[in-house]
Amino acid sequence: MSDNISNGNNTMVIKYWGVRGSIPSPLTIEQLHEKETALIKRIAADGGIEKLFGVDCDSAKINSYLESLPLSLAGTYGGDTTCFEIQVKDSPLIMIDAGTGARNLGKVLLGRLFAAKNLNPLNTIAAHNKDIYLFFTHYHWDHLQGFPFFAPGFLPGDFRINLHFYGKSNTRQRLSDVLAGQQEYPNFPVVWEDMPCNKNCIELGRLEPNFIQVGGAKITYQELTHPDSVFAYKVETGGKKFVCATDTEHKDTPDPRLIKLARDADILYYDCQYTPEEYVGTPGTLTGALTKFDWGHSTYEWGIKNALAAGVKTLVLGHHEPMRDDFQIEKLMERALEYRDAQLALAQNEGRKLEVIMGCQGLEQKL
Ligand SMILES: [Zn+2]
Ligand SMILES: [Zn+2]
Repeated sequence: MSDNISNGNNTMVIKYWGVRGSIPSPLTIEQLHEKETALIKRIAADGGIEKLFGVDCDSAKINSYLESLPLSLAGTYGGDTTCFEIQVKDSPLIMIDAGTGARNLGKVLLGRLFAAKNLNPLNTIAAHNKDIYLFFTHYHWDHLQGFPFFAPGFLPGDFRINLHFYGKSNTRQRLSDVLAGQQEYPNFPVVWEDMPCNKNCIELGRLEPNFIQVGGAKITYQELTHPDSVFAYKVETGGKKFVCATDTEHKDTPDPRLIKLARDADILYYDCQYTPEEYVGTPGTLTGALTKFDWGHSTYEWGIKNALAAGVKTLVLGHHEPMRDDFQIEKLMERALEYRDAQLALAQNEGRKLEVIMGCQGLEQKL
């Protein structure tokens, strides 16, 4: 859980605190053992400990070696569910979703608040120091459940923070009821009303795409396809654009609403929960009979198609399927790059470029 606060020359910094879909998926003992075995074999294949790190096992050499390895061997893509932190220059702190990744972000924010009295390292405007603007894509558990463990919300007195919640209007339940509801007895020991933070809930209209201004950031929202609907958000400042489109289904054509929202974006985060085979299913077989059509999620293929159609620079694939381990995520990445290259070779994509990366917990991008 690092917190590099020397981001002074950037316009926007995006930190990924959780990229797992549906349910938190911490590493199992078996998965950890598989990693350790693969790592030891890799060290042996690369010449052994003494050759790589010297007789004294130099820590700097170990660290640089580990950093050169794929995350399946030397790290993890992470088990926490969706949470993004977006620092925008001279603006209050922006968050998208409060899945279980929000717990670790909260710890880092406490440190910033006590050390520098500033939640956003890019912010030099004192008036916004204790404000957080939290945008919910939708209200499924994996996008909410970290909030009751979000430590800054419990700060009393002079450290009390101002939380501005934004989410889609919903005909069944109000945003404030959704958030209070998950902390009702017997679900959680501290009810919503007893959290000391100042709370401000604002519902955004679903049918008309629109935007609001938060400090120097313009936040545009667009409804996309998901059970009970979902918002994609674009955060824009100083000519830089980050688009978050998690929990969205493509059906059978690139989504014109997403293409419009993500036009020329620097970064598009996109839901790639399923493989193309899982999405269509394989009727007639025991394990693959279940199609994931209409479950509200997408594939790397449609992420790449949408990104190319929108002229996106970097596509980040995320909302990883909880059943998929780190080795399988890297296999999926290889397939995504092959598919990207095949798409770029098509006549209609001539001259285009697209960077594709696999989202991982701890990823930090600077614009
Ligand atoms: Zn989700
Ligand atoms: Zn969802």
